[in-house]
Amino acid sequence: MVKFNTLLVRGGKPDDNNTGAVNVPIYNSSTFRYPKLGTDVRWDYERSGNPTRDAVENVCAELENGDRGFAFSSGMAAIHAALSLFKPGDHIIIGDNIYGGTFRLVNDFLKPRGIEFSEVDTQDVQAVEAAFQKNTKAVYFETVTNPLLKVSSVKQLAQVAHQHHAMVIVDNTFLTPYLQRPLDLGADLVLHSATKYLGGHSDFTAGIIVTKTKELSDQVYTLQNSIGAVLAPQEANLLRRGIQTLNIRMDRHIQNAQKIIDYLLSNPKVGKVYYPTVDKSSEDYQIITDEANGAGGVLSFELQDGLDAAKFVNSLKLIILAVSLGAAESLVEVPAFMSHFEIPKPQRLEMGIKDELIRLSVGLEDADDLIADLDQAFAKI
Ligand SMILES: *Cc1c(COP(=O)(O)O)cnc(C)c1O
Repeated sequence: MVKFNTLLVRGGKPDDNNTGAVNVPIYNSSTFRYPKLGTDVRWDYERSGNPTRDAVENVCAELENGDRGFAFSSGMAAIHAALSLFKPGDHIIIGDNIYGGTFRLVNDFLKPRGIEFSEVDTQDVQAVEAAFQKNTKAVYFETVTNPLLKVSSVKQLAQVAHQHHAMVIVDNTFLTPYLQRPLDLGADLVLHSATKYLGGHSDFTAGIIVTKTKELSDQVYTLQNSIGAVLAPQEANLLRRGIQTLNIRMDRHIQNAQKIIDYLLSNPKVGKVYYPTVDKSSEDYQIITDEANGAGGVLSFELQDGLDAAKFVNSLKLIILAVSLGAAESLVEVPAFMSHFEIPKPQRLEMGIKDELIRLSVGLEDADDLIADLDQAFAKI
């Protein structure tokens, strides 16, 4: 078995034609010919499978060290399919600080259809343990949360969940398999918004599921094919291409993030900086060093009380004011007014999301230029 960096570049490729092409072609074909009635064909219809999508699904399975990968038209489509494994009367323990779209899916779609959820702080393993019920079927969480970058332990949560015969579902969007492989740490199913780091270039949306067992693979395949929100071949090809450079991009994201953190920590206009490795005495630091190879390229910081976050972000010239993350270009957002605007203010404050909190997805530009941009914006507030 070759090493991870080789898998990124060379993994998942079927030898599917005799042209010598080094990349799997973009098969723009929604249907596939049967040589003869009664033959068993590998591909028959795009929703059920397309060679371009298969290739990227295979590489994702290899990277996450799972049984099988599945590609969807967005991260939410993947999450919807994963949570469709459950039926009315099932209970799921879900992190209390998960992606906003996942919260909406849970509250506005799944709860009204009879699936029960308990929102629990997954950093508190005892609280998770206390939340189990007879009908608990899964624990669902993000290892590094948004926007405060809190770290939960896959190992500890998997141990507790498996004692209760519940499965573990991890949204690994922030770390990617380059930094963490949740299936190796005990998870049963791993999810991605591949719109973010895996794709890496802000040019399409995609979602990924990787399963640990054949049994789960069969179930997820049925759901993917039944619900039908599959990734189109053009986007599957872009995702393949993005994945090939994940390692070098992620290394640079982390390097740039570290330089910006050092700058922010020495800036008197900055209150707190949120990134799992800032406080080396914290449990977050312990878990991230034990279970991952780095903390990724997203960080958040608070302006000192009373400083105007709107004025700050509006003054940035290079760093782009936009939601999303994991892209080549640096993106900034103010959670209280953008990604987390839908959460009522008292609840938002309880979660630790102040109006002065700013989230930065550090891109691949020269770190000196990013710091100069931040510096000139600080000068204006
Ligand atoms: C963006 C995101 C999603 C949703 O993915 P889409 O591709 O936007 O549908 C899910 N989880 C996390 C952690 C995300 O950042």
